[in-house]
Amino acid sequence: MTPPPQDPDAPQPPQPPKPPAIPGGAPVVTQAPVVLPEGVEAPSLPSSSPRRIAIFGDIHANLEALETVLADAEEQGCDDFICMGDIVGYNADPAACLERVRAMGCPVVKGNHDEDAAGTHSLETMNPVAAAALEWTRRMLSEDQRTWLRRLRMVRQVEDFTVVHSTLDQPSNWNYVTNRFDAMSNFSYQFTQVCFHGHTHVPRVYIKKDKVTETPAESVAIEEGSKYFINVGSVGQPRDGDWRACYAIYDMPNELVVFRRLEYDIETTQRKILDAELPRMLADRLADGR
Ligand code: ZN
Repeated sequence: MTPPPQDPDAPQPPQPPKPPAIPGGAPVVTQAPVVLPEGVEAPSLPSSSPRRIAIFGDIHANLEALETVLADAEEQGCDDFICMGDIVGYNADPAACLERVRAMGCPVVKGNHDEDAAGTHSLETMNPVAAAALEWTRRMLSEDQRTWLRRLRMVRQVEDFTVVHSTLDQPSNWNYVTNRFDAMSNFSYQFTQVCFHGHTHVPRVYIKKDKVTETPAESVAIEEGSKYFINVGSVGQPRDGDWRACYAIYDMPNELVVFRRLEYDIETTQRKILDAELPRMLADRLADGR
């Protein structure tokens, strides 16, 4: 396990940038190609089969991205939702995003920004931009909302899989998994076949069979004999060079995890950031997907 980077925004894995042509407009969805074992037929989406679970996180107070993701998940026939934490921080709609997720009544795990927004501790060791946004976020949330964030659990088991914001080995240390070596420490503590996480804002799949391998976020078939540690990417502040909102669908009957990317009304999100007098770079980085 490498130590967490000094700058919490630091993880920037090499990915070809795909800047938005013209932000806004109707959502355009692309779906990564499905890699299936021989003899397995790809199910078509949407499907009416039960237990299709939308797994979404790192929303970071981006209401336009969140609403786009939730609408897409409904269209895709998802019958359950799980939130991977970091509902708040960075962007301008912390209270609205929190209430939207809270009203869903779905399982939620705590992210580091949720913890920082709920606390009263000093943020001076954090990078200045994230700290400025968190100070602002603290003022925007009610005591009741901060208590709700504070009470979120670090790790949850849902069905037969696990969810955690960062890693299972030391969830409250907020370590970043940016490569397969980092993922090895997690696998030592992963007792379910599948575990979902977030935190780096970079969708990625780590697979442990004889050794640990790493693949980009293409759709993945869950196979007997392997373990999967799957980063579902970020709804509200992707950092893989692709600005579009990201989440994953766990299609349990078909044993598939499918990643979704969606255009959303980024111009409105950016305008709200500037109107709130949050640091301008928070608006700029959304368009860069960094
Ligand atoms: Zn985050």
